[in-house]
Order: sequence, then C-alpha cells, then structure tokens
Amino acid sequence: MQKNEIETQPSCEDELNTGLLTVAEAQARILDGVTAISGTETLPVRAALDRVLAGDISSPINVPSHTNSAMDGYAVRAGDLPDEGVREFPVPGTSWAGRPWLTPIEPGQAVQIMTGGMMPEGADTVVMQEQVERNGDRVQIGSGHRPGQHVRAAGEDLAAGQPVFTAGKRLSAADIGVLASLGLGEASVTRRLKVAFFSTGDELRSVGEPLDPGEIYDSNRYTLYGMLKKLDVEIIDMGVVRDRRELIEQAFRDAAVRADAIVTSGGVSVGEADFVKETLEKLGSMAFWKIAMKPGRPVTFGHINNAVFFGLPGNPVSVMVTFFQFVRPALVKMSGETGALGVYTVLARTTSALRKRPGRYEFQRGVLEQSGPGEFTVRTAGAQGSGILRSMSEANCFILLDPDRTSVAVGEEVEVQPFQSLM
Ligand code: AMP
Ligand code: MG
Repeated sequence: MQKNEIETQPSCEDELNTGLLTVAEAQARILDGVTAISGTETLPVRAALDRVLAGDISSPINVPSHTNSAMDGYAVRAGDLPDEGVREFPVPGTSWAGRPWLTPIEPGQAVQIMTGGMMPEGADTVVMQEQVERNGDRVQIGSGHRPGQHVRAAGEDLAAGQPVFTAGKRLSAADIGVLASLGLGEASVTRRLKVAFFSTGDELRSVGEPLDPGEIYDSNRYTLYGMLKKLDVEIIDMGVVRDRRELIEQAFRDAAVRADAIVTSGGVSVGEADFVKETLEKLGSMAFWKIAMKPGRPVTFGHINNAVFFGLPGNPVSVMVTFFQFVRPALVKMSGETGALGVYTVLARTTSALRKRPGRYEFQRGVLEQSGPGEFTVRTAGAQGSGILRSMSEANCFILLDPDRTSVAVGEEVEVQPFQSLM
C-alpha cells in the first residue's frame, strides 16, 4: 500500500501496526480484570434452568433408591439356576415397578418382575422373559445365565453423599432433571448479573422517531439487547445519550449505581474518544486499547466504583464482534459460571475467495455448512464493511483469520467459530 504524506497516528489502513494489542492479550486482560459477583438466591428447580449453581451439590439419596430389575423377567437366586438342562420354578407373585413383592423369595422360587420393579429379598439375578417358558403359576428356566445379570444395584448411578455438581455450573435441562431425580425441589444459584447499556451519538434516533438529514436509527441497542438476552442477565436499557460531557457523565454515574457491568457503543472515534476517556478517568479507572483486529479495533475497558465498563466501537458489526469476543466471556465469568463457554471452532474449506491484508486478526462473517460427517464448507456472508449489519444477519459464524494470513483462495482451509444460538 502507498504511504500517505501526512499520517500523525496509526490508522486502520496501516498494514502492520506494532504497539497494537493482540486479540488474545486483550481477552486475557479483560478476563483478569473481572471477578464473579456475590449474591445468591434459592429458586424452584424449574426456575433455576440456565442459571449458575452457587454451591456444590451432593446426593441426599441413593440413585436408584432400591435394587431393581433392568428387564421384564423373573427374579431368582443365582444358586437355584440349573448348570445344564431345564429347571421348573413356582411363581408366587409379581414385583411391579412401584408395587414391590415384599415377601422374601424362598429357595427354588422365581418371582415375576417388571423393569424397575424392586428385587424381592433374597433374589440376586433376573432372567429375561424372552428366555423362559411360563405355564400357569410355574416357569421353566434353562442354563447359561450369569449370576447377578440384569440387576441395577441401589446407589449404582449415584450413592448418597456423592458429589453431583460443583458450584459454577450453568444448569441445563438434563441438570434440572438430575436435581429432580434426587428429590431436590430447589437450587441455590447466583443472582442475575445486571448489565446496563446505552448508545452514544448525536446522529442517533430511536425507532419510531422520524429521521432528519444525517441521522440514523440506533441499532446497537437492539443487537446488544439480543446478545445480552441470550446470556440470561438482567438488562437495563438506558437509551441514547447525546455527545455531551455532562450527559455522558450522568449516564455513567447512573449506570454504575444500577449495574454490575456497563456496555456502551460509539463515542470512541477521534474527537469523541478524549471525551469518553476524560469522563471515565474522572469517575474510575480505564484502559483504552487499539486492538490488532478487524473490525472493532478501539475498545475501552475499566471500572467505575464496583461496576465494570466496556466501551465498544459504534459501528454495528464492530459492536457485535467485540461483544462476542471480549464482553461475553467476561460477563460469563462475572455470572459465576466456571465451565466451558460453549464457543468452539472447526476447520472448514472455503468456497469463497477471502480478501485479507496481513497485520490484523480478522473476524469475517461467514456461512458455515456441513458437507459430510466432520466436513464443513464456509462461504463469505457478503460485504465485510464494519457498518454492514446485514452481513451479521446472513452469517452463522466468524471466519477467523490470523494477523499473518493474507488472502485466502477457494478450497483453502480456514478456522471458523460458529455463533448460531449464542447470539
Ligand atoms: P462512533 O464510534 O461513535 O464514531 O461511531 C462509528 C460509526 O458507527 C458511525 O458511523 C456511527 O454513526 C455508527 N453508530 C454509532 N452508534 C450507533 C448505533 N447505536 N446504531 C447504529 N450505528 C451507530
Ligand atoms: Mg459517535
């Protein structure tokens, strides 16, 4: 690229920019800079779905609570089974699931038993009903059965007192099922994280208002709302704040009182930057980073009293990219969740040529498709400008291109990060 005569500061046109923070460094610094909130609440198990467990859980009971049959068949004493030939057993009754046969089994007897039925006292083996011949109140059983077969021991899944879940687990459908299987009606979870957000910009109008020349609708408050909603946090929408020092300062003060985290968009371009920076420096501590990435390079991170502050760029795609890469992991950590983030990457063969200059990490928007078992293709989601929100709409993944990487030809392999259902 040709160098301009006048260039006073690094710009996004520079090919190689030393002094920029890498994406990984910025992610690490942000994660280091936040801690899990305190405060818990006890909820009925269903209401605890998708919430983060506040304490460890041990099983109060044995699961299963009683030794039972894994098959429909006949419960016997293993010692009574014939080594060869066929033996006839009298059948005194049936043990149904939930309606046990409570009389201890006598030597030589076979109690009919249903799947889940409690094993009668003295019986230790189940013979499947397909492998017997029943005649009235007697049953014929042959040889070749293994002692102890088709029996589920009490506490086999989980013994009383055994740890089940550790604090920091986000409760899934299976997890609340497990809690119910233990007879637990309530769970202690961390309180919901409170996240306040507002947009800054004199050009912004809210939906429903007419646009004057030069004005645009505020879409960032909608994308941020949507992404926060997926995180199950308490959302505080503080609207649009005009580019005026007093108003910005007031908004920051209000947000810091009401929320654990504050997310803003816009107001970080040259001229506006000093302005937000000044306010933040006055109210708390902050770092203003230029990150070697595209889109979404300037990101502000800091603290105002007890609240964590994330200042994202204004461009609609930049907001979504920086939220997903930096803010989302931080909010997950603040929520007390300690498990995996649910974000993963796969390798895919690109069916589009991808333009890329070396120097910055690029998050291009792509459409990932599965072409076979473990095989994926990806194509570009269209024009990659940081203002083109439609490219995010069309996309279901980010195509991750390393700083060193140059343009990618059709057929080359690229790393892809699916985000469907995450935002
Ligand atoms: P800024 O960082 O404030 O200079 O904004 C960068 C670009 O993003 C400008 O074109 C803004 O008009 C646009 N922008 C900023 N905030 C929003 C918003 N809330 N919704 C849509 N576009 C925005
Ligand atoms: Mg602005």
